[in-house]
Amino acid sequence: MINLSRPNISEQAIESVARVLRSGQLVHGPESETFEQELAVYLGCREAILVSSGTAALHLALMALNIGSGDAVLVPDFTFPATANAVMAVGARPVLVDVSADTYNLDPQCLRQTIEGWRGAERLRAVMPVHEFGHPADMAAISGIAKEHGLYVVEDAACALGANLNGRKTGTFGDLACFSFHPRKTLTTGEGGLLTTDNPELARRTRRLRNHGMERTDSGMRFMEPSLNYRLTNFQAALGRAQLPSLDLWVNDRRELAALYVENLAAPAGEGLLTLPNADPGHSWQTFMVVLDGRFDRAEVIAKLKAVGIESNLGAQSMQEIGLYGDALDTCKVGPHLYAQGLALPLYERMTPDQIRQVSESLTAVLSGAD
Ligand SMILES: *Cc1c(COP(=O)(O)O)cnc(C)c1O
Repeated sequence: MINLSRPNISEQAIESVARVLRSGQLVHGPESETFEQELAVYLGCREAILVSSGTAALHLALMALNIGSGDAVLVPDFTFPATANAVMAVGARPVLVDVSADTYNLDPQCLRQTIEGWRGAERLRAVMPVHEFGHPADMAAISGIAKEHGLYVVEDAACALGANLNGRKTGTFGDLACFSFHPRKTLTTGEGGLLTTDNPELARRTRRLRNHGMERTDSGMRFMEPSLNYRLTNFQAALGRAQLPSLDLWVNDRRELAALYVENLAAPAGEGLLTLPNADPGHSWQTFMVVLDGRFDRAEVIAKLKAVGIESNLGAQSMQEIGLYGDALDTCKVGPHLYAQGLALPLYERMTPDQIRQVSESLTAVLSGAD
């Protein structure tokens, strides 16, 4: 079976986790502190704050900005539901914005229209662009619009560790940014996540919010405000640290494999059987998702690929179609189409060029009815 993705855990990484387990320092410790410093250097930001998941990072980001009841937050229609769920978790209202058909990311023009057409009772406070599948969102346009309207920017960079926009890493553009280390992402700690910011005040607030609202003072622990436990463990940090030096190599391998997909799927794309993803040079390719033409039943395509030993899946969800977040102001069209017809193909750095060819040939055969 060619799987959709495969975590890349070396024996050396396992050994570094074992060392932490033997040390007895399981929760916070030197591995987590060093990993935070290394991540800040890698990304080029002032502060990196480890948390227990990408969802925890999203939740804490909104808490740190004091977003809550009476507020509204703009989120892309096409994403993993954690983005919109975090908005609901602080008692705010998610406002859905359609995405672009080529990048699968928040469409800046739709963002502007949605903001200018907003008549809701809630106050718009923030926008959460998602770098979907590792494709960098158009941060220049989005940040410009946010600034005009006095909105915070919280990047959902869960898929986008290692991605960049003209050399500047995703996750360094917003007031805060959130990453995930779930096994489906390129670097994994099992569960895990990260918040980044250049703002020392927001960093301080986030650090105490991840740890019961507690700060250490000269006179001991002080609980400054009610909060939760969203800490990452020291042994998870060791697992992440062991992978970080390889990350850029892995992203590079993924870029080459994605380019090979584009080459091998050019024929069915030319015949209108599918649409290929936009190959931005800064893309980190957490997922390679094509969009099947409307004549195809995706479930059938997934089943036929599975029968020849290839795992595939849908890419992400349309928040509008899920129906948990109220109605979109303007009906989203692109997000629901990507949700219905998007097909994620196997991609991980240890795949071989032959496997990419095999997947491409099998998919082409299925779509041409020659299987
Ligand atoms: C994976 C993902 C998340 C959630 O991350 P977890 O670590 O699983 O909580 C959030 N947003 C997006 C876009 C994701 O892809």
